[in-house]
Amino acid sequence: MTTPTAHEPETIAEHLANAAAQIGRFEAHVLLAHVLGKTREYLIAHDDEVLAPEQATAFELVVSMRAAGTPVPYLTGRQEFFGRWFAVDDSVLIPRPDTEVLIEQALLVTGPAPKVLDLGTGSGCIAVTLALEIPGARVTATDKSPEALTVAKKNAAALGADIRTFEGEWFEAVPEGETFDLIVSNPPYIHPQDEHLLSLEFEPAGALTDGVDGLEDLRRIISGAMARLTPGGWLLLEHGWDQGPAVRELLEAAGFAGVRTKKDYGDNDRVSMG
Ligand code: GLN
Repeated sequence: MTTPTAHEPETIAEHLANAAAQIGRFEAHVLLAHVLGKTREYLIAHDDEVLAPEQATAFELVVSMRAAGTPVPYLTGRQEFFGRWFAVDDSVLIPRPDTEVLIEQALLVTGPAPKVLDLGTGSGCIAVTLALEIPGARVTATDKSPEALTVAKKNAAALGADIRTFEGEWFEAVPEGETFDLIVSNPPYIHPQDEHLLSLEFEPAGALTDGVDGLEDLRRIISGAMARLTPGGWLLLEHGWDQGPAVRELLEAAGFAGVRTKKDYGDNDRVSMG
């Protein structure tokens, strides 16, 4: 272990020590491995290697961005979700482990070769995962953001998933009259006044909050879903830890049966379904 140097850092070890003092050892290793296009193991085995000036400059830039709050996945351009790496940029929400609960429930309720719809797909992590995990699934993904759809299509192509995409808001994006066996969504659900939003300032606000009360997009999706489900089909929605009762009430008022809520790994209500 090296401590920050008095002179300008030269070797991998010196650069890592300097960066670790600002952003911690783990993230320093992740970011330098990314900048060099090497593994973290390589850094440890070759820590006396001297960085080229442009490598040093590139590393110092991402370290300063990280120190200023930019999330690591926006610097490395990728995030792992359900065992696969998804490309991300700041036009999409960074995939969260909590959303894997939605995947697990979808895999439990779905029958063979279902027609699946993912509303507000963002990076495409839900749509692509379901396309790859459910044999014969035909997956449609929507987003109102063309930039997000570009990311989703890139992920689908890179991971070998065949998904169809439409640009637009919620069901307005979906061809009229089309129905699905499974509809899923992780919509914006944070209340605009929730101070948690402040900690998410680097992610697209439009993916996080509806700007109304945190339930507006959930209401729009729930009210439109029944007409878009095949008989016996399921609607699965991610929501905030305190929105379980409200979302169950909305589902029941819309005529859904089998309404229930599943908890995330932090033991909070996270996914409601009917
Ligand atoms: N679960 C995310 C968070 O609280 C929010 C995701 C969303 O609004 N859909 O960080």
